[in-house]
Amino acid sequence: MRQRIAVVGSGPAGLTFARVLHRHDHPVTILERDPAPDARPPGGTLDLHEGLGRLALDKAGLLADFQALARPEGQAMRILDTDGTVLRDWRPRPDDRANPEIDRGQLRDLLLGPLDVRWGQSVTQVVPGTRDGVVVRFADGREESFDLVIGADGAWSRVRPAVSPVTPHYTGVTAVETSLDDVDTRHPDLARLVGDGSVAVYGMNRAFVAQRSSGGHVKVYAQFRAPLDWHTHLDPADAEAVRSSLLDLFHGWTAPVLDLLHHGTAFVHRPLYVLPVSHTWPHVQGVTLLGDAAHLMPPLGAGANLAMLEGAELAETIAAGPGDPDEAVHAFEKQMWARAGRWAQITTAGLDRLVSPDPTEALALFDRVQSS
Ligand SMILES: Cc1cc2nc3c(=O)[nH]c(=O)nc-3n(C[C@H](O)[C@H](O)[C@H](O)COP(=O)(O)OP(=O)(O)OC[C@H]3O[C@@H](n4cnc5c(N)ncnc54)[C@H](O)[C@@H]3O)c2cc1C
Repeated sequence: MRQRIAVVGSGPAGLTFARVLHRHDHPVTILERDPAPDARPPGGTLDLHEGLGRLALDKAGLLADFQALARPEGQAMRILDTDGTVLRDWRPRPDDRANPEIDRGQLRDLLLGPLDVRWGQSVTQVVPGTRDGVVVRFADGREESFDLVIGADGAWSRVRPAVSPVTPHYTGVTAVETSLDDVDTRHPDLARLVGDGSVAVYGMNRAFVAQRSSGGHVKVYAQFRAPLDWHTHLDPADAEAVRSSLLDLFHGWTAPVLDLLHHGTAFVHRPLYVLPVSHTWPHVQGVTLLGDAAHLMPPLGAGANLAMLEGAELAETIAAGPGDPDEAVHAFEKQMWARAGRWAQITTAGLDRLVSPDPTEALALFDRVQSS
């Protein structure tokens, strides 16, 4: 009889895992807390790297569909000084396919395809080692048993406590996100500033990034070093109060940066949390983790890529059977830990340079990445 497998979470990790299993005709139950795929705004844009996210899509048989949607021109990147001087202006060659961008919502829909997600299933706890296998408990009091439960439920995973006591800690850097719609018609100057890809400005312990998604949508991230309670005097629902606090923080920066804040529509507070670099756990039969649940790291272009590749690899490992499925999962974990540990080191060091007392460190980092 085939294993009863459940994956908790329908983010990039969970959906890629399920889609690759589906390709191998292997049943899987997908449990997602959100009541519907479009219950929350899907977020901005992701660049998918060859050998990571794009390899995962290949394993899912979705590479051609991805290429039809992807925006190679989204790799363009401009860096300004805080006074507006253009310091770098990278534009991809027309044939440059290194890190094409895709909207998160498009990627989600691509992965969802024929998958049957059980929406509105909020998992509260996972208990391994019972007579009937691994018990999954839900917020409405129900329970259900499986042979293998995969925690792909992100930073604040409810599956993680079944294998590890570790919880995320604050990096000291906070991001506040806002967005602008229809920039090409409503804000043509800002649209030109952002270009086809991103514009970034680095100052002392502050960073500012604006990034284009498709359809003239621009996501803006204001990042700064601050104590976790920096906003206690603010009502986060009061957009004008948050705007004015950000305008104070970025006071004196070039006018277009301030304009992006002036025109932003809603503000989302995102303190950046991470799990310890090289987070591992003693193997627990019947439970494992993928993606942010396993190795939450600073958002520097790796998290979703790793999450997808891990999902695809674990699914292939399971589909390859026969053999001891638990040994196969443990072998997968060791491979995941080694690779994620390397990326966690890179992204942790990267965040220190991008939001740094010395803004020239950010420029040096970009120069190194561009020349590698
Ligand atoms: C601003 C920002 C920009 C980023 N940019 C990039 C980028 O360019 N490239 C890149 O590779 N990465 C990027 N990342 C990182 C990337 O978003 C994450 O690493 C990635 O989403 C992790 O995928 P995941 O599937 O592990 O978790 P998530 O995407 O967090 O998905 C988890 C899913 O589990 C569900 N869930 C949570 N709890 C429960 C529960 N109790 N029961 C049931 N379901 C539950 C959630 O609703 C969600 O659908 C960025 C992150 C941020 C914050």
